[in-house]
Amino acid sequence: MNTSLATKITYTLLFLLTTFIMNAQKLSKAEKKIITSIENNHKSAILFLEKVVNINSGTMNHQGVKEVGMVFKEQFDAINFRTKWIEMPPEVNRSGHLFAETFGNKGKKILLIGHLDTVFEKDSPFQQFKVSGDIAYGPGTNDMKGGNVIVLYALKALYENNLLNDAQIIVAFTGDEESTGKPLDISRKDLIDSAKKSEIALGFETSTGFNYATVARRGSSSWSLEVKGKRAHSSGVFSEHTGAGAIFETSRILNSFYNEIKGEEFLTFNPGIILGGTNIKFDDETSKGDAFGKNNVVSQTVVTKGDLRFISEEQKERVRAEMKSIVKNNLPHTTAEITFKDSYPAMQPTAGNLKLLELLNEVSIDLDQGIVEAYDPGKRGAADTSFVAKYVDCLDGLGTMGTGAHTPEETLDLTTFEALTKRTAILIYRLINQ
Ligand SMILES: [Zn+2]
Repeated sequence: MNTSLATKITYTLLFLLTTFIMNAQKLSKAEKKIITSIENNHKSAILFLEKVVNINSGTMNHQGVKEVGMVFKEQFDAINFRTKWIEMPPEVNRSGHLFAETFGNKGKKILLIGHLDTVFEKDSPFQQFKVSGDIAYGPGTNDMKGGNVIVLYALKALYENNLLNDAQIIVAFTGDEESTGKPLDISRKDLIDSAKKSEIALGFETSTGFNYATVARRGSSSWSLEVKGKRAHSSGVFSEHTGAGAIFETSRILNSFYNEIKGEEFLTFNPGIILGGTNIKFDDETSKGDAFGKNNVVSQTVVTKGDLRFISEEQKERVRAEMKSIVKNNLPHTTAEITFKDSYPAMQPTAGNLKLLELLNEVSIDLDQGIVEAYDPGKRGAADTSFVAKYVDCLDGLGTMGTGAHTPEETLDLTTFEALTKRTAILIYRLINQ
């Protein structure tokens, strides 16, 4: 070995050693204890996950959803949270929610959001938890019983080290995230009330990548366009007496939406179904319908149903106004009306959300887990955090890594499960010690 190579190796080793020591120093004594607890509890966390995945909790299996809630309830009781099961009234036709709370004044007041239900109902062939190598299979492993277990085991680690004393934390596990109970002011009341008592909300929906978190997600709403024309013989179409007909008018409107409104960042709108002719029938419940018309009759009626996704209330309102102004510019002898219905509000990329991301990023770097960046809001669907985003700073996508959510191939990556639990626990610890 020549001397310059030896020096190089010595320097490299020195560098590695210093980085190691620096990293080791980035975690406080208390934080190191949290990490040890999580490592000690890892096997038990996987067993617990298996237990809850094996209880079917499709949204409409009300009993199953509650049963999963009760299994979690017992665990939260054991770490000194005050728990309650909130039944939904019969008209909402959903199971209910589990809330768990610990009371205090220390640091930030935190709301942790999960959901107990899955898209796999009782008649689904996909019911069993299975592990093969580093992958766990099962309904809700990834979306999101895995995320709920991260919440529980992160808090458990804090509790075991007496680090939850005087903290104000609410855990909200809803029972109907996959198909929200209506009206929303009943089914989301408790979640929103909890947000109003909190300063920060963390959502544990499926992670979009180990090094990403969600600081914004688009809201969604629907629209319905109804156009009327004058029924007449087709030979008279375009005439002063007959006009354009409902189908040409609908085409004008949709074409103008496409040409004049499309293109803004994070904005999409999609007509999903259209029925037109002389007479039509459409059933909103089943999203099915019939149309009758003839090629020698000027069309009398057209109905189009679509969605609208947006990044802010401002964008939503502005685009709706633009759509309305296009809709009222009618072709001869036609009338048109568009109506809108709200569903999920948008979670906007606020300064507060970005600050939370910064904190998570620091935690991740201190754990040697790499940097965490903001995920593209255009690619993320709506979720429960959207309902609380207006009241608190939010971060979502803190749940498990996996694939195939909402399909019978749903998996959970077990190699990152423990790391993500550590990240969550340290984040919570730093928030309550700020
Ligand atoms: Zn989910």
